[in-house]
Amino acid sequence: MHELSICGSIADIVQRSAGGRRVETINLRIGQLRQVVPETLVYCWSLVSAETPLAGSALVIESVPVRIECRGCGHTTELGALPILVCGACGQGKTTVVNGEEFLITSLELAEV
Ligand SMILES: [Zn+2]
Repeated sequence: MHELSICGSIADIVQRSAGGRRVETINLRIGQLRQVVPETLVYCWSLVSAETPLAGSALVIESVPVRIECRGCGHTTELGALPILVCGACGQGKTTVVNGEEFLITSLELAEV
């Protein structure tokens, strides 16, 4: 499963960044083009983090909508859950993806020492 390997990578990065402190919350920003289901990711996180120093930490996922810019008219269109890369103003398909490909750990909240 796609989400399990993502959780493995998150765990590596977070453990390196935390420097041995207990992690309470991990804030993520994920673009909708990534095809990640937030609920599945949270579930996989509970499996991956169990019995590691990250057990009990929470993933907070901010889902970034897909936005495209039309190369013809310059209009920016925000797409829904099923991204179809067509301009909302003039209907042409020559577009540039502005948002939606993000996959970032934006911040960690660590326990007080
Ligand atoms: Zn257009």
